[in-house]
Amino acid sequence: MDKDSSDLFGAVFDTPPHRVVPVLVPLPVPEPYSYAVPVGMAVEPGSIVQVPLGPRQVVGVVWHGSREDGLDPKKLRPITQVFDCPPLTQEMRDFVDWVASYTLSPPGLVARMAVRVPAALEPEPMIEALRYLGGEPDRVTPARMRVLEHLREDLPMTRSGLAHAAGVSLSVVDGLVKQGLFETVFLPPAPVVAMPDPDYTAPRIEGPQKQAASEIVETMQQGGFSASLIDGVTGSGKTEVYFEAIAEALRRGKQVLILLPEIALTASFLERFQDRFGAKPAEWHSDVAPRMREKVWRGVVTGEVRVVAGARSALFLPFEELGLVIVDEEHDPAYKQEDRVFYNARDMAVVRARIGGFPIVLVSATPSVESQVNGLSGRYHLVHLPTRFGEAALPDLHLIDMRRHPPQRGGFLSPVLLRAVKATIERKEQALLFLNRRGYAPLTLCRVCGHRFQCPQCSSWLVEHRFRQQMQCHQCGYHEAIPEACPECGTLDHLVACGPGVERIAEEVEAHFPQARTIVMSSDLLGGVKRMRLELEAIAKGEADIVIGTQLVAKGHNFPLMTLVGIVDADLGLANGDPRAAERTFQLLSQVTGRAGRTGLKSHGLLQTYQPQHPVMQAIVSGDAGAFYDREITEREKALLPPFGRLASLIVSAESRADAEAHARGLRAAAPRVTGITVLGPAEAPLAVVRGRHRFRLLVHGRRNSDMQTYLRTILSKGPKVRGTVHVQLDVDPQSFL
Ligand code: ADP
Ligand code: ZN
Repeated sequence: MDKDSSDLFGAVFDTPPHRVVPVLVPLPVPEPYSYAVPVGMAVEPGSIVQVPLGPRQVVGVVWHGSREDGLDPKKLRPITQVFDCPPLTQEMRDFVDWVASYTLSPPGLVARMAVRVPAALEPEPMIEALRYLGGEPDRVTPARMRVLEHLREDLPMTRSGLAHAAGVSLSVVDGLVKQGLFETVFLPPAPVVAMPDPDYTAPRIEGPQKQAASEIVETMQQGGFSASLIDGVTGSGKTEVYFEAIAEALRRGKQVLILLPEIALTASFLERFQDRFGAKPAEWHSDVAPRMREKVWRGVVTGEVRVVAGARSALFLPFEELGLVIVDEEHDPAYKQEDRVFYNARDMAVVRARIGGFPIVLVSATPSVESQVNGLSGRYHLVHLPTRFGEAALPDLHLIDMRRHPPQRGGFLSPVLLRAVKATIERKEQALLFLNRRGYAPLTLCRVCGHRFQCPQCSSWLVEHRFRQQMQCHQCGYHEAIPEACPECGTLDHLVACGPGVERIAEEVEAHFPQARTIVMSSDLLGGVKRMRLELEAIAKGEADIVIGTQLVAKGHNFPLMTLVGIVDADLGLANGDPRAAERTFQLLSQVTGRAGRTGLKSHGLLQTYQPQHPVMQAIVSGDAGAFYDREITEREKALLPPFGRLASLIVSAESRADAEAHARGLRAAAPRVTGITVLGPAEAPLAVVRGRHRFRLLVHGRRNSDMQTYLRTILSKGPKVRGTVHVQLDVDPQSFL
């Protein structure tokens, strides 16, 4: 457009000509870029736009803040297009800014998580359909007859829908179209999910559930931000309680987000939701087909979708009027994303609720120490459900001291556990053997020369998988065929598997119980999520006697016949140097043993341990969760660990060990002296090499009130410039220390 005509249009449409606006682009840069708004184009903060970036066109978001910095709009590139899509709300933009600033991530990359579905940025096209005008064809054949039987003047159908319904080929329909029996009409696309109805059925809550639900609903009725924590044992009916919070939000015309850690495996949850509200929630996770994701995203921004059940990434969906977030299994490590933008969806959900001024409900049988502290201090409204619903009782828990009841040579299951399994399956009930280790054996070595099989690109052992006939690296996915000879000394048939994985336990179980129906559940199941859902259904229907599984079976499932849970290695999670090791072990073991006895049958949990005196073991068998939390909280407070202090990791990686180490030392040297903040390291990471990259870690530890973000920014800006293959990853509130 030349200058004169643009001035003319500017005058006609009364838009300030050549406005400049900030646009967040999907790049790791600290600020929005400036673009010119072509005359006649209407944009506002939040508008989703297409802009040129180098030779490409990318999706960006018009940001807030003015650009009165003397930029000459004529020298800037113009916005190409505004998508026909509601703009991101102020609330959503504030949330993006907050997350970016807290996690020290580029805001454009955070915003990209909200608009990652380019095909959904424009409305879905209308659907072309045929409306019957009445009248008869010139000649009636049996096929035409069948079509005519399906026609109604008030119910337009698509061409293929009509052919399908009548069981005829498309050409038969086309023949009738040619005769002028139809007019073409355009219909809006079908909604992605039906409307949930808060009063579809009466609430299913009794006794303590009623009290809990009414406390939460009352809190909601006061309006504004509030955080509640439902702390209730497995099977206490927490889901039914938070359904009442959802019903309340729906009655107020608000959208609801339910975060679940393993949504791909919670088909039964969706059904329960449907029973209560008459329609399923929309699903949002990596396993939803792209077309469906587009529809859900569009439904969320336009407000057509009222409830989403999703994995952590659903937190960045740009809801039109979000009014409640539920975080189920709030303690679950799966809420932490450790990729590009490192964030904890549980914590960021609280932030989102605070910015939006609406309630959030955290739910767990084993809350995180952080949430527990917030509950005890009154910052969160704490709701207790101490007993199981109805007839169901919690399982009787006992430790098996493996020093006194060792397994047979070459085995991993003590005679005590094996006897219990036998008794269980004789009663036609189910037993679960839990081991959080995929594959057959975590380490393979050569008996002759001692060679250990290691990943060529990582500092981790290769895990033998007998089902797949592979040695696999669980860090990078590298795999090779299981060799017959040692690659080092060439000796044949002298490789030994060290330690158990679920596949090896299955072998032991089959040797002891050849008649039993066993199922191995781990993420290695061929057939992916679909297959897992089928297997879980089979277990729930009693089609297996013994289930051997990883943490996949630990979460949320209801297996009515399961009355025995055996923990193969209760000590497994305690060994590593993670400050949350005790908490994690307590949570995982409580969740797994909580699978037993959900329907009133007497049930048992047996934990194989070499450290029966360990406080975690004692806390689990005593059933005194309160004592465990008290002790854990006291220790954290003494060591100023979260939530009494703050942590952040800097992970430096490079192709050469020397480069990584030098850069890490440079960052350390740049760290200012500040009271209340200390820097530990650099130290070589426990996972020293991943995918051929050498890794060093720095840990920044601050008091609760210290300004970690400013401190970290100072280190990064004063430290050495990133060069060559060096990469620095920041992890605020780290969960992993590997
Ligand atoms: P949690 O989420 O605490 O593990 P659930 O909400 O899954 O517990 O409830 C455990 C079991 O009890 C489920 O099978 C659920 O259908 C049932 N249940 C819970 N509350 C009620 C109720 N008020 N009436 C009938 N059944 C209930
Ligand atoms: Zn590897």
